[in-house]
Amino acid sequence: MGFVPTGGLPTTIPGPITVLHGAHVMAPEDLGRQDVLVLGGRIAAIAPEIDSQALPSGWPSVEVHNLTGLLLVPGLVDAHEHLTGGGGEGGPATRTPEVTLTMLTTAGVTTVVGCLGTDGTTRDMRGLLAKAYALESEGVTTRIWTGAYEVPPPTLTGSVRGDIVLIDKVIGCGEVAVSDHRSAQPTLQDIRRLAAECRVGGMLGGKPGILHLHVGSGRRGIEDVFAIIAEGEIPAAQFIPTHMGRTQVLSRQAAELTRAGGRADFTAGPGCSQSISEALAHGADATRLSVSSDGGGSLPRFGPDGALAGLQVGSPSTLLATVRDLATDGVLSLEQALALVTSNPANAIGLGETKGTVAVGADADLVAIDQAYQVRNVWARGRLMVSGGQPVVFGTFEPAPKH
Ligand code: ZN
Repeated sequence: MGFVPTGGLPTTIPGPITVLHGAHVMAPEDLGRQDVLVLGGRIAAIAPEIDSQALPSGWPSVEVHNLTGLLLVPGLVDAHEHLTGGGGEGGPATRTPEVTLTMLTTAGVTTVVGCLGTDGTTRDMRGLLAKAYALESEGVTTRIWTGAYEVPPPTLTGSVRGDIVLIDKVIGCGEVAVSDHRSAQPTLQDIRRLAAECRVGGMLGGKPGILHLHVGSGRRGIEDVFAIIAEGEIPAAQFIPTHMGRTQVLSRQAAELTRAGGRADFTAGPGCSQSISEALAHGADATRLSVSSDGGGSLPRFGPDGALAGLQVGSPSTLLATVRDLATDGVLSLEQALALVTSNPANAIGLGETKGTVAVGADADLVAIDQAYQVRNVWARGRLMVSGGQPVVFGTFEPAPKH
């Protein structure tokens, strides 16, 4: 059956026109084999057969990509990356480098939320905001968390609430460290006050106003969050703690938080599938879980004496590897596993209408992956960023390949 353009399609089109042909679409719901029409950076149609020859004659030439044998999934939404670099826990030489455009796109990430971490001293919010603007102009979609590990958090306007209300890119406060030897040891009242600033800032700014907590391996876990929720004023939905796969106690608390109406985020990588499996065994609501990469951040190991024993840098490429683990381990269906890195985080940060979904009207953020969960092609707002597994659009200072 041919696709017949209707009166709903415009006669002139800004930007590239692309037909993605023959992929199995996971939206992340399983839509089966579908063609996808991209116009002006958005998804204009999804149908079993879209005939590029039958499109209105006034349109410019159409780019057709044959994706037969590939899965087409939403561009990944990574709600926790250290875009300006992080680390420094072993001194200045261990400050990690900035995240580049192609680090994101080759991992299938088309929407990213940047944050500061341990180091809110030599990295600051101005640098993070500028980096978010830079990546956005290079082609992906960005947001940021205001703050860092420390309390009171560093901000742009002088307050968390002010940043959320006044700065477009700020969606909440994070990553504020709790239950961690690197935290500022915030009290229950400190956390309660920050949650209140997020809540009211979110209301005034028309945003989620999330308090995004970095949770360490300390025994308290997120007990303070439960204490605040139990007071009955600030709802569980205001909180998204991350690194919730770090200990078995945290996996259980993650489950409890989702049952109370909150959300819990896990850090991708080896062991993530097992931790999510434990959370599900404790009754976690899978639709309220997400996975982020901690990309650009340092992944330090500390010895029993508290001294730094080793250091690695987080990469967003762990996201799809974790989806693969979840699906092949049988912890979740592929549809549910994909939701953890697409629709669930998009919903959590208030972008569920346009991001993390393959749907008519949504942004054309799309990733074609092969049977081995390797990224083949990536489109960000309709623009081809990765082709045949290789980046074709580069960040300003990234070396383009020599011809
Ligand atoms: Zn963290």
